[in-house]
Amino acid sequence: MTGKTHITGGIAASLAFAQVSHYEPAILLIGGVAGALIPDICHGSSKIGRSLPILSKLISTLFGHRTFTHSLLFLLLMTVLFQAVLPNEALAAGILVGMISHIVLDMATKRGVKLLFPLRVTVRLPLTTSTGSFVEHLVFAALSVLSVYFGYGLFNL
Ligand SMILES: [Zn+2]
Repeated sequence: MTGKTHITGGIAASLAFAQVSHYEPAILLIGGVAGALIPDICHGSSKIGRSLPILSKLISTLFGHRTFTHSLLFLLLMTVLFQAVLPNEALAAGILVGMISHIVLDMATKRGVKLLFPLRVTVRLPLTTSTGSFVEHLVFAALSVLSVYFGYGLFNL
């Protein structure tokens, strides 16, 4: 999936989560967008990879693409890390929701993700698409509509 789809996925997921949580929606939203970008630190050409080239190179060399940073293990480690260093619970929750949305969207691609890293099992959804395809544009459109729908109620647009 492209960065644009991931950002929209993070927006839709964090606003959906805001409906059922007591956290401040605006903070969840900021976290959701950030979290949606974090897993692609393993891609040097991604938005976050270009901002942090050295860290990105290190992670892709150590783990490869769509492995460690797209796994349940990574989500767990980030949860522990946030509890230790991030005083804002809403922001931490938003980032986690954004990262989960990213991983789920990548599971909808043919390449899938190594969700169970360090196990080398590729996990993908029964229906998949390829990055930049027509179906991805449809997914992007659907996520945009969902974002507006959830945002409408939360922010009284
Ligand atoms: Zn990814």
